[in-house]
Amino acid sequence: MFRLDLQRLFLLLTTAAVLLTFANSYYVTYQVQKQLLIDSTLEANRVYAAKLAETTNNFLQNAQKQLAYSAKILSTDFDNESLRESETERLYQQSSFFNSVSIINSKAIITTVFPKTIPIKGLLLPENNRNPFNARKPLVSNPMVAPTGSYLMSISHPIFGMNEKYLGFITGSIYLHQNNVFFKLLSQHSYIDGSYIYVVDQNKELIYHINKKRIGEQIEGNHVIDSVIIGTSGSDKVVNSLGIPMLAGFAYIKRSGWGVVAQRPLENVMAELDVQLTEVVLKSLPLLFLILTIVLIASRYITKPLKALASQANHMYQNDAEQNILNIKSWYFEVHELKRAILSGLGTLKHKINQLNKDTNTDPLTGLYNRRSLDQLLEQWRELKQSFAVIAVDIDHFKVVNDLYGHDVGDEVLKHLSLLMKENCNENYIAFRNGGEEFLILLPSTKQADAHFFAEKLRVKIAQYNMPIAGNITVSLGISYWDSNSNDTIKITLKKADIALYQAKRQGRNCSILHS
Ligand code: GH3
Ligand code: MG
Ligand code: MG
Repeated sequence: MFRLDLQRLFLLLTTAAVLLTFANSYYVTYQVQKQLLIDSTLEANRVYAAKLAETTNNFLQNAQKQLAYSAKILSTDFDNESLRESETERLYQQSSFFNSVSIINSKAIITTVFPKTIPIKGLLLPENNRNPFNARKPLVSNPMVAPTGSYLMSISHPIFGMNEKYLGFITGSIYLHQNNVFFKLLSQHSYIDGSYIYVVDQNKELIYHINKKRIGEQIEGNHVIDSVIIGTSGSDKVVNSLGIPMLAGFAYIKRSGWGVVAQRPLENVMAELDVQLTEVVLKSLPLLFLILTIVLIASRYITKPLKALASQANHMYQNDAEQNILNIKSWYFEVHELKRAILSGLGTLKHKINQLNKDTNTDPLTGLYNRRSLDQLLEQWRELKQSFAVIAVDIDHFKVVNDLYGHDVGDEVLKHLSLLMKENCNENYIAFRNGGEEFLILLPSTKQADAHFFAEKLRVKIAQYNMPIAGNITVSLGISYWDSNSNDTIKITLKKADIALYQAKRQGRNCSILHS
């Protein structure tokens, strides 16, 4: 089954954590920035609408003051036609507020008009234009259609003569579908960020709009317009008549009862937010990469010793496993403990294996190598073509020792004899217990004569040795030789040693015979 390694797991987790953290901070930044932008846009539009309302209010106040001044002059000599003409012209030229200036007398007849090209002089004021006439007080009218067909609004002031006699009124008109003072005043606003402004009157009719075709349109169902015309100022989110969500600031124009609305599509604000967020992401990318690189390096550094331990744990039976494990740097607690545990496990394992090897290869009574070891070694020597001499050793009349002193004394004799053989062997000679009271000594690369000489020496040593309780014992020895180049098998060579041994027995024991 596929299993993730620790480093990949570590990388996966930390990378996921880092990416999630970044994503989360982007999300939070986005949310906070979004609210900030919306709030600041609403506030900017509110301030802007308030400023425009104030400017418009000042303008209307100014216009009314000028009309009042003319009304005062005209009140002294209303019937003077040249005075009326000069006043209308002066108002038109001086202020550049109005598209036209006219004077209406007490019978609602238009007596004077400037520019004179407008063909309304002498006309009776139509019913729908009579508000300023009937009001007999300073007035800013709602939009209306003039006798000429122009869509306009007027600012007017009554003219009273001696004894408060109503003489008529003087009025300045602003043609809403043509270039007028409002356009100049309100169109200074920059439209590059998608914002625009409009003005509505008390009837929710558009007096000013960037799209002139919409002037005169009555707008229903817009809660911002509904609030502004009842005198409220502020800011709010609103969906415009085209269904586009807007951030609007609005302000009431006291003198005329109109409302100014400055608004910006929410979509434009969001686009700005996208730009800002992209910038945030781009600026944080180097840090993100730096952190990911650190994570990658750290993951390698942390998992390296564990990886090495895991790999060594798979090769515990190799000779250099212990050294390799010792070489692993255990720079943190868990690896240190694991390393210790593995090394201790390995030590126990080795000890156990050694113990097992000893048990299976040696004879428990004498500590000499057993028959099994003999077979293995001879097999190796056969393959390696290692020539050797072999001495078969058998205790003389051992049965008598057992019979006289008991089996335990016999065992002691076997142990002492084994020790004697070991002591007399040099580092190359190897003694085996072949079974019972029979032994074999292998002498690699030893000539027959040398082996015979060694056998004789050993025999004498044994004969002189004083065994506990049993006293002196003797052995008989048979010697043969395996030449790796001869045709003899090792089995035959061992048999020959046996034959020589029996020959020694027959010759009276306590002697050694070299097989010829
Ligand atoms: P020979 O000189 O002809 O070799 O006479 P022997 O008595 O040594 O020969 P035999 O083969 O008849 O007897 C061997 C005896 O060795 C028989 C057996 O009781 C004894 N023996 C074999 N293994 C052990 C052992 O492990 N411990 C003891 N105490 N005696 C053993
Ligand atoms: Mg025997
Ligand atoms: Mg014997």
